[in-house]
Amino acid sequence: MKSEPLKIEDSQEIDFSSNDSQSFFGRISSRILNQKEDSKTADLSILKTSEALLLLQNYEETRQGWFWSTDKVGNITYITDSLAEVMNQSQQELIGTPFLELFRESKDQGCSERTLRFILAKQSPFDQLQLQADIGDGGRWWSVSGKPQLDKSGNFIGYRGNGKDITAQRRSENESSRLAMFDSLTGLANRTSISKTLQTMLSTLKQQKRTCAIMLLDLDRFKQVNDTLGHLAGDELLKQVAKRLLNAIGKRGEVSRIGGDEFEILLPDCEDRGELGQLSNAIISSLSQPYSVDGCRCIIGVSIGIAISPFDGMTSEDLITGADLALYAAKAGGRGRFHFFSKDLQQSAKDRRILEEDLRDALSNDELSLSYQPIVNAKDGVVRGVEALMRWNHPERGPISPAVFIPIAEDANLIKSLGEWALNRACSDAVKWPNNFRVAVNVSPIQFADEKLPSLVLKALKVSGLKAERLELEITESVFLEGSEKTEKMFADLKEIGVRLALDDFGTGYSSLSYLQTAPFDKIKIDQSFVRGATIPGSRNSAIIAAIVALAEALDMETTAEGIEAMDELEWIRDLNVSHVQGYVYSMAVQAEELLLLVKNGEWIVNPNGPAKFRQDRVSMYRKVQAVHENHCYSVMIRNISATGALMEGLSEVPVGTKFVIDFGDGQLALAVVRRSEKLQQGIEFEERLVSDGNGGLCTRRRVSPYLIASAGMHIPNIPADFYPTSIYPNPLNSLPAFYSANDKR
Ligand code: C2E
Ligand code: MG
Ligand code: MG
Repeated sequence: MKSEPLKIEDSQEIDFSSNDSQSFFGRISSRILNQKEDSKTADLSILKTSEALLLLQNYEETRQGWFWSTDKVGNITYITDSLAEVMNQSQQELIGTPFLELFRESKDQGCSERTLRFILAKQSPFDQLQLQADIGDGGRWWSVSGKPQLDKSGNFIGYRGNGKDITAQRRSENESSRLAMFDSLTGLANRTSISKTLQTMLSTLKQQKRTCAIMLLDLDRFKQVNDTLGHLAGDELLKQVAKRLLNAIGKRGEVSRIGGDEFEILLPDCEDRGELGQLSNAIISSLSQPYSVDGCRCIIGVSIGIAISPFDGMTSEDLITGADLALYAAKAGGRGRFHFFSKDLQQSAKDRRILEEDLRDALSNDELSLSYQPIVNAKDGVVRGVEALMRWNHPERGPISPAVFIPIAEDANLIKSLGEWALNRACSDAVKWPNNFRVAVNVSPIQFADEKLPSLVLKALKVSGLKAERLELEITESVFLEGSEKTEKMFADLKEIGVRLALDDFGTGYSSLSYLQTAPFDKIKIDQSFVRGATIPGSRNSAIIAAIVALAEALDMETTAEGIEAMDELEWIRDLNVSHVQGYVYSMAVQAEELLLLVKNGEWIVNPNGPAKFRQDRVSMYRKVQAVHENHCYSVMIRNISATGALMEGLSEVPVGTKFVIDFGDGQLALAVVRRSEKLQQGIEFEERLVSDGNGGLCTRRRVSPYLIASAGMHIPNIPADFYPTSIYPNPLNSLPAFYSANDKR
């Protein structure tokens, strides 16, 4: 006889009100055992079932999980005791209440009560739903499964299911996912997390046609701190950098650390290059302030590369590549600056690699030389000494600026040999000059950190026969790690040799006046960025320079103002009692042979000669741009440009007041009005000021959005290199031009 398996379909028949201490499964299994069955198979089946029920009972008692069932309207018909206890209720109290009431709506990841409501209403099965328990602080989570139950005729009669507590598991998952998304040192988002955010952000912003900027930051000279003060100090420094970055960015964007000393910042809805430039400058200045690490004062800098979506790319790869190239350019441009991405950077990155290769051979090919710029007594015009400035005459490219090749030499590990060469050459040149003439040689931070420097200096002096007091070493403040024993020892060793020490580029953002009192300098050189624009009304530089001069005098140090070009600047600097001046107003650097002639009489006096007034940076250039007037597009030349206007050449008889749209390429359009007009040249004024591109150039604040161009019917899957059409204006053929261009035959 075939035995029917025992069914416990209708749990309603069990009396839950009983105070019997036996559990539900215990009671059922004993009831089954009491049932009279006569066949052996039935016995076996009963035994199996009762065994299963006892196991379930044991399981319930271990509190590893719980069981539940509902009737067809969703009210609880059974719930494990232990669960009721957790809910601070009795089993009896919970019976008859809606199952859904055990859970709460959760904002955390997991499944919400609302999802469960939906599933129950559809009478669908569900497996391991993560639900938040509706208890106390809400910190408890369950994984719940359920299966709909049908009667013999297939009618839904309720649910049965189980659940277990997964609070601990979720906590550790959360913790490990937090660890996976955050940088454990600084607490900032890490590379994985920020790339995810960037991707999500880009796809959302693309749909909504919004913009977003990314900044890549790389700390300058961080390696030096790490090497000198050790990794622990390096870590501490990174933490402080992270804090300053968070302060600078605030709620504007998200800051992350993507590797060693590299950071990435995402800024949604940001395309204004003026604002981005200001923000970058604020970051650069904040990060360049001295840090106190392990009782030592140290200074680092930062370079920033910026790319903006959709202009510079629409995918995260394109944007990162763009920002990376821009960062590279910022570093190549002399560090401590920002750079916007532009398409010509792809070429410059290649150029730099080639330059690096060429620089390796420059010394042996005799392509390097030293030029000497006089340092003049501000009162009487007598030249007291010269600064040796390295020149590279590239066989194909001609002269290359040290501002370009010195950073390359530093990165490519070539600076020590270049520096040693400069030291030797400067000393051997200087012995040929009159005795009262000094020579100043620039020493890179990398040379300064090299223990061999004092012996190299001694050797250069010995071989050339130059007296130590005629040699001055120019050191930039960036190398100082105040309190570091190495620095102190280097200073002491150099002073013992008897050479003079000058603090170069003072005023570039991180100078500490108090530090000057302890460092053994003979001279402070006030950086030209500090001098530049100081004659413009409202500048506070005068007061600061006056303070520096007073302190220097008290400490018996000389002062030199660098980069004086105009007569008004010279007058101003004299009024401030700066003792020496170095600048084009006296002389540019001259070749060694020329210098020999100039000093042969034993004294060299120069008369200042320069423009009367310093002019707001007006950059000379020769650049072809498009000028659009009504529906005509003309090709014109820009001869010089400033933030507020430009001199345009190529059109004749343009009335004053005429409006143009100047197209500088890459979507950069500027509205301009003709203010002066003379034959083929017009002075134009921009409606909105141009802004610094971070590298001595200018750019428009905003660019024409590719979205706009797309809405005019162009497809933009991704921005190709030649994305922006030369002219995005109406076809010029349908009307006559208003102006003649220089090349037109009249
Ligand atoms: P620096 O040591 O601050 O040198 C002064 C720079 O200012 C020189 O630029 C000089 O030509 C420029 N200058 C002087 N007067 C004026 C002026 O009136 N107007 C303007 N606009 N500029 C003026 P240069 O020769 O291009 O050198 C740039 C930097 O390259 C130097 O800045 C120095 O940091 C570095 N450098 C040059 N030669 C050497 C070298 O032999 N070794 C090392 N390590 N660095 C060097
Ligand atoms: Mg110098
Ligand atoms: Mg300088």
